[in-house]
Amino acid sequence: MTGAIPKLLKLSAGGLPVAWIDWQRAVCLYMEDKVLWEAGEQEIVIRGGINRATGQQTLFNMSSIIAVNDRSRIWESGGTFALTRRRLYARDRGLCLYCGTHLSESSMTMDHVKPRAQRGHHCWENVVSSCRACNQKKGCRTPEAASMPLLAVPYAPNVAEMLILSGRHVMTDQMDYLERFLDLNKVA
Ligand SMILES: [Zn+2]
Repeated sequence: MTGAIPKLLKLSAGGLPVAWIDWQRAVCLYMEDKVLWEAGEQEIVIRGGINRATGQQTLFNMSSIIAVNDRSRIWESGGTFALTRRRLYARDRGLCLYCGTHLSESSMTMDHVKPRAQRGHHCWENVVSSCRACNQKKGCRTPEAASMPLLAVPYAPNVAEMLILSGRHVMTDQMDYLERFLDLNKVA
């Protein structure tokens, strides 16, 4: 099971999903009595050492979804994570949004749909992942001026969607929980 232990979905005290945390961090939260409540239907079981007296292996059971006092207030401040390369790559499914080529994360470039030179903003709605060739071909032009239509309209994914997109080994109950928040785009 090593290497494939799923992450826990962390919720704010109010039940809003805020982050993935690894099991080591979660064990600390349990030990420090910081888990307010559990919302998972599934469990993540960590196997410890063998107890010498009993010969039994110690097990640590955690809920796949836990609520803690979280101070990020990310939902209150717009419900969207800051734009980063990695998150952009996840949002655009690793594709160049001009030619549809599948990119590796290292070969992806961030293209400003409305170029920075034309005062285009560096924000989710104005940035797409692009291959180097398309980025160079487009240059300092808009997609219209360059006759390079976008394959999808860039948008700001909400926290729940980004957690789905960036999650690995997402458990079914975690997915169900996150899907309930997909419609809450831009609560602000
Ligand atoms: Zn391309």
